[in-house]
Amino acid sequence: MVHPTHEQERLDALHRLRILGSTPEPHLDAVCRIASDMFDVPMVLVLLVDETRVWFKAKWGVDGEGIDREGAFCDLTIQNQAGSPLIIHDLTGDPRSAESPLVAGPPNARFYAGVPLALGSGFNLGTFCIMDCTPRPDFTERHARQLRDLALIVEAHLRLHEARVDGEADAARRLKAESALRDSEQRFRLLAETTTDVILWSGLDTTRLYVSPSIRTVLGYTPEEMLGTKPLDFVHPDDAGNFSRVLDDLTSGRVEHASTCQRYRRKDGTWVFMDVSQSLARDPMTGAPAGYVTSLRDITERKADERRIAYLALHDPLTDLPNRTLFWERLAEETRYAAQHGTRVAVLTCDLDRFKLVNDTLGHPAGDHLLQIIAARLLAVVRETDTVARLGGDEFAIILGRIETRNDASILARRIIEAINRPIGFNGHSMSVGASIGIALESGGALDAVALFKRSDMALYQAKAAGRNTHRFHDPAADPASTHPGPLKAEMQGAMKRGGFLLNYQPIIDLATGTIAGFEALMRWRHPRRGELAPSEFIPLAEESGLIISLGAWVLKEACREAAAWPDHVRVAVNVSALQFQQISMEETVLHALAASGLPPHRLELEITETILMQKTETVSRTMRRLRKLGVRIALDDFGTGYSSLSYLHNFSFDTIKIDRSFVVGMSNPRTVAITRAIVALAVDLGARVTAEGVETEEQLAFVRAAGCTDVQGFLFHPPQPAKDIARLIEGGPVRLAA
Ligand code: C2E
Ligand code: CA
Ligand code: CA
Repeated sequence: MVHPTHEQERLDALHRLRILGSTPEPHLDAVCRIASDMFDVPMVLVLLVDETRVWFKAKWGVDGEGIDREGAFCDLTIQNQAGSPLIIHDLTGDPRSAESPLVAGPPNARFYAGVPLALGSGFNLGTFCIMDCTPRPDFTERHARQLRDLALIVEAHLRLHEARVDGEADAARRLKAESALRDSEQRFRLLAETTTDVILWSGLDTTRLYVSPSIRTVLGYTPEEMLGTKPLDFVHPDDAGNFSRVLDDLTSGRVEHASTCQRYRRKDGTWVFMDVSQSLARDPMTGAPAGYVTSLRDITERKADERRIAYLALHDPLTDLPNRTLFWERLAEETRYAAQHGTRVAVLTCDLDRFKLVNDTLGHPAGDHLLQIIAARLLAVVRETDTVARLGGDEFAIILGRIETRNDASILARRIIEAINRPIGFNGHSMSVGASIGIALESGGALDAVALFKRSDMALYQAKAAGRNTHRFHDPAADPASTHPGPLKAEMQGAMKRGGFLLNYQPIIDLATGTIAGFEALMRWRHPRRGELAPSEFIPLAEESGLIISLGAWVLKEACREAAAWPDHVRVAVNVSALQFQQISMEETVLHALAASGLPPHRLELEITETILMQKTETVSRTMRRLRKLGVRIALDDFGTGYSSLSYLHNFSFDTIKIDRSFVVGMSNPRTVAITRAIVALAVDLGARVTAEGVETEEQLAFVRAAGCTDVQGFLFHPPQPAKDIARLIEGGPVRLAA
């Protein structure tokens, strides 16, 4: 059986008509009856040719619903061009039909004439045919034409059916589309009217055409009040440029969607921060821009949080004064200004005298209270444009920008000392402390911020040496870095030769086990007249004079020698100054110390501060890389006191992060807690240990544990110890850590 080449499409067209098995149509039966009369034949059929069956759509003189397609004459007929009939006057005499079961068996047909029926899609879906039981040589051309005319009528009827089916499908489609539209509209409204975001629809000229009800709570207007308005009626003038840019980007097709932060005016006149999300809406048919869909979200609270965090990062939680970071920023700004405008800038560094005594005798709450009062007093004596910062502990610094004379600075210093000297009451006690102030003055901007600060620090040392409660200007003659070595430098050099420096060791406790993980080596100067000096009293000088290089080398060698005698799992941490790290010889110094002592590199940890990283020199990063490759550990010290600390965590990899004491102390403040948690999580994520420094109370211990710190160090466990006591400490076993 040869099927038409597009048989599958033909069948699809037939099934689309949904005509098979449909109810009989009297019109078609009538046409069959007419044909029977007209051509004097006993059998007339309207047939539809399905895949394997031939269905009788209308019939005259025939029983049943259909027959097998195999051997049916109409299968031949439909292969003709639409309209051209197949006529076989004597079926037995034609090779195409002689074998057909319709000829051999009932109805024993002898004559057949059929016309293919083409429908809308152009396929021959069936036939209109007549049959006789005797051959009909009398069936002429004229009869054939009449048969075709009747077939046209049949076709017309079927076309009607086709149109009806198409129409029904169309209607169903329309209905479906309408209900989908209704659904989506309903969904849109539900969405727009229940979300706390404001949803706006506006035309291409930005006129609002729809505004969701949440506008009431967000901006205080009713949706009706907003209709017909434009965004620029509400957007803050400073954000208007931003807004127009976004609009441009959207209409030009550069972006499909844009998100910005803009301030909007509420009905009550206040401004709120909005997260504005805008998309260009296109006509679904043509794709042409049709308007804008905007959603507004009130992010005032989030902005306030961001501001709070930014504030916290730049301020001391205890006194609310600018911290070290902000101090350096401001000082850099002021020195730049001085360089550009030829003005003067002064830095006053101020240390409290007898503060430690207050802390030790009346406790930390008293010390905290005192620091807060002094902060307030300092603010009261300076100009509004000056900066008062707390650099840590009892150390304050004041930047006086754009001052006239040296005398202005000294007048201020005297007023500060007076203000600090006034007694401070606390729980019935009267506390009184003094102050020493060092001043460095600079005009024309020859010195940068760091140099200027160093000078004021040197002057502070001189003020202290001069007997406290006094101030001193930086005196270049006493500057150990200048060409005339000062008396101090000579004193330090002498002390190095005579063994005047020594190291104390402070245990670092592993929080998981309570055992000592290592010791930090901390330097002391046994001064012949002034007793044991803390590093803060001589390290700045050692750095200024360059002596720190040889002093630091001694510390490394001494600490490694000492540590080599400890058990294998106990590390030693050595503080390294920025100046040391800049030396090309640094790596060699470390190697020497390790070689001389036999200490394995992984038991040595170098504590560096951000100042080292800030220099970003090739020497520093190369030295760090090489040392780490050797196995030497690197710790980031005083984390949280300096510049944009978090970025360093990402850019360098550290073995340990040491969280500064000021963070641990400030932890009664929930904001500090949040920041510390974040830092610890980040560090641990990067594979580092996190040591909390300066833990003094059980409360602080509980906090740093909760924050995820892995190690602790502080007076709660042990103050720095002389070397001879270490063996006993290690033997003492784990400390008890409250749950
Ligand atoms: P650092 O590296 O932050 O050392 C920790 C300081 O905190 C030590 O002060 C230690 O005694 C003190 N500390 C430890 N636990 C507590 C506590 O619970 N409460 C309080 N209030 N303080 C605690 P120290 O020994 O006076 O050292 C001061 C700084 O001097 C060190 O700070 C370090 O930056 C520097 N330094 C010490 N030794 C060396 C050294 O050999 N070389 C260099 N370059 N710097 C050193
Ligand atoms: Ca340290
Ligand atoms: Ca530290």
